[in-house]
Amino acid sequence: MIGAADILRAQVLVVDDSPVNVLLLERMLGAAGYSAVSSTTDPRAVCGLYREHRHDLILLDLKMPGMDGFEVMQGLSEIETEGYLPVLVLTAEPGHKLRALQAGAKDFISKPFDQVEVLTRIHNLLEVRLLLREARSYGQLLERYDPLTGLPNRVLCRELLTRALAASTGGATDVAVLCVAVDRLKDVNDALGRLGGDALLRSVRDRLVACLGPRDAAAHLEGGVFALVVTGAADAPRGAEAVATRVRAALQRPLQLEGAEVAVTASIGIAVSAVDATDAETLMKCADTALHEAKSAGRDHWRFYSEEMNARAREALAMENALRSALEHDEFVLHYQPKMRVVDGAWSGAEALIRWDRPGHGLCPPSAFVPVLEHSGLIVPVGSWVIRTACRQIAEWARCGLGFVRVAVNVSAQQFLRDGFVQEVAHALGDNGVPPEWLDIEITESCLMSRREQTDQVLRELKASGIRIAIDDFGTGYSSLSYLKRFPVDSLKLDISFVRDLATDPATAAIAVAILGMAHSLKLKVIAEGVETETQLEFLRRHACDEVQGYLCARPMPAAEWASVQAARA
Ligand code: C2E
Ligand code: MG
Ligand code: MG
Repeated sequence: MIGAADILRAQVLVVDDSPVNVLLLERMLGAAGYSAVSSTTDPRAVCGLYREHRHDLILLDLKMPGMDGFEVMQGLSEIETEGYLPVLVLTAEPGHKLRALQAGAKDFISKPFDQVEVLTRIHNLLEVRLLLREARSYGQLLERYDPLTGLPNRVLCRELLTRALAASTGGATDVAVLCVAVDRLKDVNDALGRLGGDALLRSVRDRLVACLGPRDAAAHLEGGVFALVVTGAADAPRGAEAVATRVRAALQRPLQLEGAEVAVTASIGIAVSAVDATDAETLMKCADTALHEAKSAGRDHWRFYSEEMNARAREALAMENALRSALEHDEFVLHYQPKMRVVDGAWSGAEALIRWDRPGHGLCPPSAFVPVLEHSGLIVPVGSWVIRTACRQIAEWARCGLGFVRVAVNVSAQQFLRDGFVQEVAHALGDNGVPPEWLDIEITESCLMSRREQTDQVLRELKASGIRIAIDDFGTGYSSLSYLKRFPVDSLKLDISFVRDLATDPATAAIAVAILGMAHSLKLKVIAEGVETETQLEFLRRHACDEVQGYLCARPMPAAEWASVQAARA
């Protein structure tokens, strides 16, 4: 808000070649309470004065010898960078009023003056001017600060870093940037709600700021990613390491949020000036690359930037580009691995597993590219392709006399939670004339837990349409078992890590048996993944596991092989 006092403090410049008029206006303004009024009778001095003082209002006489008011306005508009001329013209000629307004003046006063009118017009114009200035500076504030934490944002962070680099004596390694990302912020947001997540970030901010020295700075770059600019350490890598250690220790103490205790960890990427880069932009990029490495090291880690990281990042980018065109060029294929019923050894269906026939690289397994698909969002179109292709394959096998084969497809969280997913599946089935009961969907435990309400809704719709749902890699995720009761799932896929050690590790065997018992009491089927030996199969049979999948039965195979292998078994 603009108060009366602000208006009276505003800077007003009076320009008139007549000293009498100047005196008159100055007296009038002084009597009204204005305290920052200056004047000149020389029109040629106006631009220089304005450049220096940026007056809030110029009372400008139009008719002056040497240089008239129009010329002054022309000069002012050339130096006015914000495109607003704070000019009130004084004129005795009615014909000049419109011309002055068109030239950019904001208002006019007719000579001879009416005191009340003059003061009212001045007051109103100043009010507009100050409001504009306030809005502008608020805008500038927003442009450079993050409203959530009040910390500098990325723009200001880059400026601070540039300044720190310039101040660092030539080539000395005395500036470090730490990119600090709160791990699993999305889960925190899901659990605490958006406001809770915001409160958490503010608590994290306080902890981070407390880790810094007086010459260091903190910024909030984007949701949950902070940058710490550490300056002045004699040995910057050591200094950065010390800050990273302090940050981890500071976050180890649980945060208090509305009575609840929340524990968070952070991943940290570090880059050091001169060693990694000499300019702010590159240095921040290096810290960000190191952050990615820290995250993929399993979070709650910190990493210094290295050249190899850069090479890896470049390779990931190249792969992302290659994946983008892979879909267009039809380079993906699905292989199918049978699932076998334990009681009678019959094949109960297949799991469709994607491979990428990458030119020059051969057949790549999903572990080599699915993470990149997920990271880049390409998993959405590729996932749609998988569903369409699997449905087409079911129809194809049926057409060539194999009957319907039940096929399970893996669906990632991003794909699953997108609007229209259920309709997309229905179309894929409908277009190929496949009844829904022949398609299974496998989603991982962490996918189920990520957005519970929405997940629940999608599952119910899928279920209602006749599609069956399996929880993949069961036992590796959040292990809050209560949700099993709640979500409408049909089966669990016991993760390969349990199956592998069944015969050798009693604790693993005990967990597997417990999962089997619990699943059965909830009327869920259990499919064991990665069964490779007769011993494992025997163990699973003894504990009433329903189905198995693994190399013991068959490796994933191209669709064309499926028919012959199945025929040979029959
Ligand atoms: P998953 O869904 O758990 O698939 C089972 C994985 O175990 C497959 O690996 C399969 O080849 C492997 N496997 C099967 N039997 C054995 C065995 O006896 N021993 C061992 N050691 N491994 C066995 P694959 O094909 O490399 O797929 C890996 C993961 O990639 C899958 O795990 C799944 O999470 C993901 N994936 C595969 N295809 C797709 C897809 O179309 N979309 C999505 N979103 N993810 C996919
Ligand atoms: Mg699977
Ligand atoms: Mg699995």
